[in-house]
Amino acid sequence: MLDLYSLPVTQVSGVKGKKPEELLGLGISSVGQLLDYYPFRYEDYTLRDLTQVKDGDKITVQGTIVGVPLVQMYGRTKSRLTCKVVVDPLFVTAVWFNRHYLRDKLTAGAEVVLTGKWDQKRLQLTVTEVEFPGQGTSQIGTLQPVYSLTAALTQKWFRQAMKQALVQYGEMIPEVLPQELLQKYGLLPRKQAVTLLHLPGNMEQGQRARRRMVYEELFLFQLKMQAYRALNHERADGVAHPVDLPAVRAFVRSLPFTLTDSQKNVLAEILQDLQQPHCMNRLLQGDVGAGKTVVAASALFAVVKAGYQGALMVPTEILAEQHKRSLDRLFEPYGIQTALLTGSLTDRQRREILASLQMGMIDVVVGTHALIQEDVFFRRLGLVVTDEQHRFGVNQRSILRRKGMNPDVLTMTATPIPRTLAITAFGDMDVSTLRELPKGRKPIKTYAVTHGMLERVLGFIRREVAAGRQAYVICPLIEESEKLDVQNAIDVHAQLQFEFPDYKVGLLHGRMTPGEKDEVMREFSAGRVHVLVSTTVIEVGVDVPNATLMVVYDADRFGLSQLHQLRGRVGRGEHQSYCVLIADPKNEVGKERMKAMTDTNDGFEIARRDLELRGPGDFFGTKQSGVPDFRLADMVTDFEVMEQARDDAAELVKRPEFWTGTEYTPLREFLQREQILSSEMLD
Ligand code: ADP
Ligand code: MG
Repeated sequence: MLDLYSLPVTQVSGVKGKKPEELLGLGISSVGQLLDYYPFRYEDYTLRDLTQVKDGDKITVQGTIVGVPLVQMYGRTKSRLTCKVVVDPLFVTAVWFNRHYLRDKLTAGAEVVLTGKWDQKRLQLTVTEVEFPGQGTSQIGTLQPVYSLTAALTQKWFRQAMKQALVQYGEMIPEVLPQELLQKYGLLPRKQAVTLLHLPGNMEQGQRARRRMVYEELFLFQLKMQAYRALNHERADGVAHPVDLPAVRAFVRSLPFTLTDSQKNVLAEILQDLQQPHCMNRLLQGDVGAGKTVVAASALFAVVKAGYQGALMVPTEILAEQHKRSLDRLFEPYGIQTALLTGSLTDRQRREILASLQMGMIDVVVGTHALIQEDVFFRRLGLVVTDEQHRFGVNQRSILRRKGMNPDVLTMTATPIPRTLAITAFGDMDVSTLRELPKGRKPIKTYAVTHGMLERVLGFIRREVAAGRQAYVICPLIEESEKLDVQNAIDVHAQLQFEFPDYKVGLLHGRMTPGEKDEVMREFSAGRVHVLVSTTVIEVGVDVPNATLMVVYDADRFGLSQLHQLRGRVGRGEHQSYCVLIADPKNEVGKERMKAMTDTNDGFEIARRDLELRGPGDFFGTKQSGVPDFRLADMVTDFEVMEQARDDAAELVKRPEFWTGTEYTPLREFLQREQILSSEMLD
């Protein structure tokens, strides 16, 4: 069969000269790629009835010229051309800007089709396109696709090239989806869908074509994830940890609290994975404060007892320090050696730790991403845990593989992820969820206030500190300027220290050295600092259960998930906790967020609203989030299709025929192109 993707686009007649190069700029070099370049909307040239349209609509109407065209010139090039036209039943003024050369064509009695913007009050149409019926090719009554193009290519040329490509090769567009799925959802065959997407007769056909292609796009994406998962489960190239279950149980019993049922279930899932010969690739999600750290600690304990090393990767040095401290507390009685590996070590310290790691003298290493750098070698790395990080990427995994290691990986995220996003960004992973908070937690009370109430907020801080509790004050955020943020923090710190001469007010910001930050955090953890003024550097992970008050200045400038993270710094112990959000009441978007924050404490609900307010691209705030840019599909509006596609793909890869049947050859070839399947596995 002719492969359209290896057929150069120059085979389409009319694609010559500079055009192929221009197309390459759009990522199009083959006929297949050209056909896959979908329009992002359609111009509607269907003829409209003027009594049915609204002011400001962009419309196409047919009429008869009745008046004499009139031209006013402004300077040498600017002009305004007007002409009376009867568009039954109205008497309309058609207006053209800077196209006075049209005047000679506008003869009384002539039929015209005009496209433009309708001004209901003046009965006036500002014309963008004019056609004289019966003369040349016409787009009257059609939908014209609009493509995203570079300046050197016109819509007109591109439409023509696409039409030509469809004439020459449209019949050869192969099907990729199996019949059963086409039938299940009543989807158009691919050939027809692609054609209609470019040349829809009407909106309804365009919609049907889109529906088919959206399903295909999401299905192929999910198939990749599910096939990866299925193959990973079959592969036996990971570490099968000989887990000493009684020892792990004893460790868990020695904790200062009993695990919640959720924590127990999740830990059981992880221990189960650790013992399997395949590589664990698991996501642990849970709301802030759900108690992920201790689950990770128990897993690390199990791995060390099984004779392997563990690594805990975190995004900031403050968190690395904190985790190191809490692991030491838990592991000390068992003689487990831990170490800290961060960017702020001296060369000599670093060399020593690297040597100990390689010799196997360190059991668990905690650090920032410095942990996975090229010069870090382990003796027997068995488990990597990443905390509060969105993704342990394929790249990082391959760095480890190159070092001859294939450890189990546990990814923890504190951002509760709406289901659609989870099955998209983390579809290749097994997911464990902590569904409950530890018992005895009181819901955090959240208040949104205005700047005018600052005095009362200060009184609130005073009251909590006097009762033996501690408070965080997050400083005003000035976009794009870390320097000003820091200055703000310094100012607020000075002001609060002046307000509370009897208490110790600490300061934390991004310009301090790691040593200074650690010192402040340690003092705050120990309760010797009562109020901690900070920039958002403490956003994730920081755990000081005695802190009960979180005050956020300029809260309307923060994203919802970020606010929820900040709020999650309190409410971690048995005391009633509060979150006070100081916001500008004039900020409309901010108002929505304040409402969401005061409405609910549920991270999953917050995440859902955040997704709605911001869209998936911004949700994680990072490019490496694993959320792909879909060509047609929209993560928010097409979420049901995404879920169907995911279930269909998961079901399909479970069937033995999928891996052998000829009906599925196009899908297996797709997996091979995407490097999920190697070619020998295809036979
Ligand atoms: P997160 O899931 O946000 O990372 P942490 O692991 O930091 O949460 O846990 C939040 C706090 O709850 C910590 O102070 C931790 O010691 C405590 N904690 C964890 N599990 C329990 C439990 N089962 N019962 C009581 N407190 C717990
Ligand atoms: Mg945490």
